Amino acid sequence: MPIDATQPYDDDNVFARILRGELPSRKVYEDEWALAFHDINPQAPIHLLVIPKGRYVSWDDFAAKASDAEIAGFVRAVGHVAREAGLPAPGYRLLANVGGHGHQEVPHLHVHVFGGRQFHAMLV
Ligand code: 5GP
Repeated sequence: MPIDATQPYDDDNVFARILRGELPSRKVYEDEWALAFHDINPQAPIHLLVIPKGRYVSWDDFAAKASDAEIAGFVRAVGHVAREAGLPAPGYRLLANVGGHGHQEVPHLHVHVFGGRQFHAMLV
């Protein structure tokens, strides 16, 4: 079910539990600012999720409340993950769903990194 992106942060959401090590994930990268792991239900040959370590519900929440250092660290982590996966040369797609109309299901900001095949002009 899509979430309301304006809801308060829920510390029991699945990505919060992955961050705390309470649930397993296939981790590909971690630094001070971010964690990246394989999506459990991949929609492309490469489908990774990058999440900030801070408690942010959505991209909107992050853009409004995160420090410049957190934003820079997270954006650099997304770039690093894509490079490490060998994606810049063939190309790839980034996606952040926000709230109900965006069909965001997990209430902790995540950027999807899709790669390994040709994507169509639009996802919608
Ligand atoms: P959203 O629709 O919120 O942008 O995407 C949530 C994504 O999280 C989906 O692609 C879904 O497959 C993935 N996901 C949900 N639960 C888990 C989980 O427990 N582990 C992993 N690795 N991915 C999950």
